[in-house]
Amino acid sequence: MNSKKFPFADSPDTACFTCRHVLEDNKPILYVSHDEDGCWQFLCGENHAEDDAIIVSLAKILSIDESMEALAELDYGEYAEAEDETSDWNIGYVNK
Ligand SMILES: [Zn+2]
Repeated sequence: MNSKKFPFADSPDTACFTCRHVLEDNKPILYVSHDEDGCWQFLCGENHAEDDAIIVSLAKILSIDESMEALAELDYGEYAEAEDETSDWNIGYVNK
């Protein structure tokens, strides 16, 4: 066990969505949403088709990009997006 506290309120094995660009092509995560239903999404800035989505655990996301812990307190119904890896996150509300 890692002694560092897990930053998310959800457990490390919580299923969330990422895309194959992040997982397979090492694209940076530029869009994170925490949906009203509690579902997390960690996507690159590209457009996505349904079969681009991949389900992983929150722990896996942190192993890909540990800076995601900065967004662990994103509230239900909020999203964060960034222009690129070096820019700040802009927080907004997910449209229904
Ligand atoms: Zn993608």
